[in-house]
Amino acid sequence: MTDIDQSPRAANLAPSAPAHAGELSPYEIAQHYFQVAADRLELADDVRAVVGSAYREVQVQIPVRRADGRIHVYSGYRVQHNGARGPYKGGIRYHHEVDLDEVRSLAALMTWKTAIVDIPFGGAKGGVNVPAGECTQDELQQITRSFIDKISKVLGPTRDIPAPDVNTNAQTMAWMMDEYGKLNGYTPAIVTGKPISLGGSLGREAATGRGVIMCFSEALESLKLTPEDTRVVVQGFGNVGSWAARIVQDMGARIVGVSDAFGAVQSEAGIDAHALHAHLAEGGKLVEFPGVDTITPDELLGLECELLIPAALGGLIHAGNADTIQARVLIEGANGPTTPAADAILHDKGVFVVPDVLANAGGVVVSYFEWVQNLQHFRWSEADVNERLGTIMSRAYQEVAARASSDAVPLRTAAFEVGIERVVAAARTRGYI
Ligand code: GLU
Repeated sequence: MTDIDQSPRAANLAPSAPAHAGELSPYEIAQHYFQVAADRLELADDVRAVVGSAYREVQVQIPVRRADGRIHVYSGYRVQHNGARGPYKGGIRYHHEVDLDEVRSLAALMTWKTAIVDIPFGGAKGGVNVPAGECTQDELQQITRSFIDKISKVLGPTRDIPAPDVNTNAQTMAWMMDEYGKLNGYTPAIVTGKPISLGGSLGREAATGRGVIMCFSEALESLKLTPEDTRVVVQGFGNVGSWAARIVQDMGARIVGVSDAFGAVQSEAGIDAHALHAHLAEGGKLVEFPGVDTITPDELLGLECELLIPAALGGLIHAGNADTIQARVLIEGANGPTTPAADAILHDKGVFVVPDVLANAGGVVVSYFEWVQNLQHFRWSEADVNERLGTIMSRAYQEVAARASSDAVPLRTAAFEVGIERVVAAARTRGYI
């Protein structure tokens, strides 16, 4: 038994359909949501310029001789967006479409996310444009070590602390910690999301999905829903989607649709999320899971359900498909899944949207707990981790919901308002603005 999840995340995410033609780039999307809230806060232009742009952007070359005998040259990025509230914090993703614009947008989202849940971190993100699903474990290890060598000068447990994201996992974090340790000595607090045996936190792997479902629990009362009345559709069955599905099913909800990189399926009678997770972990295909009907990824979004969880890549809910969504509540497990055009359509249709910067913050919250445990060289129980996560998610949800009702704005705008205010206050107190 290993505590390292080796499941091929690449295989479990939804297909990377391009954002709808004519819509914005990932960074333009993140900036749009920032500007809407900044307008409401009447932030001066110079203040926007300081807190709205990245502090440091590093791009490095990662040449690696792959099994085909050729040297492939990849680009690695680390964007440190804002550090006014604490060390930079955010995951590193491996995906062939990664570029600076995307990493920059994800870094900005981390700044607002850590502020919204009020943990003492800034925001950062990293990525390598490697086709992770096609690489061997050896190749991924070489790429990871080379990337850390090249960016280690801007990292550190009080400077910048990476974590897993799309197509990276506990094993990737183990290599990162080891490589950083060769250069700097044993430093477990340099990355979070590590294997339990190397200082990882109990509860970290499930944390993002668990936080998504904690937001669902918070929303139940105002939606007049119960878990037993809830049919759930999950777009993307990687770490976030599969944990969210398993946890919400255990509360009594029924999973009626799931997609991954190879297709989408539905079953009105329900798809057992635990059995599906086991089936995929054993190398089975989603479309071959017993008792399901194959549908298209767009048909998945149009399924009748109460709860839709986008848990794949960014920009997959766009002007071209938002109108077909029938869910009453959409909780963003992924980062940046909804374009502004789609967001406006969903708002007009009365779909209740819990935004990424709040909904998927559970991962970075338990990363914070992991960092705290590493600095103290002390381990908390899983029950302790989950309880503390619940306290933070519930407080953040209630603060954002209260702001949404007092300002009569959607949760997304309210969340950005809360996050931006906290970052501006810290930057002001430090004397930056
Ligand atoms: N990659 C995750 C996110 O987007 C986790 C980041 C972290 O734990 O630092 O929130």
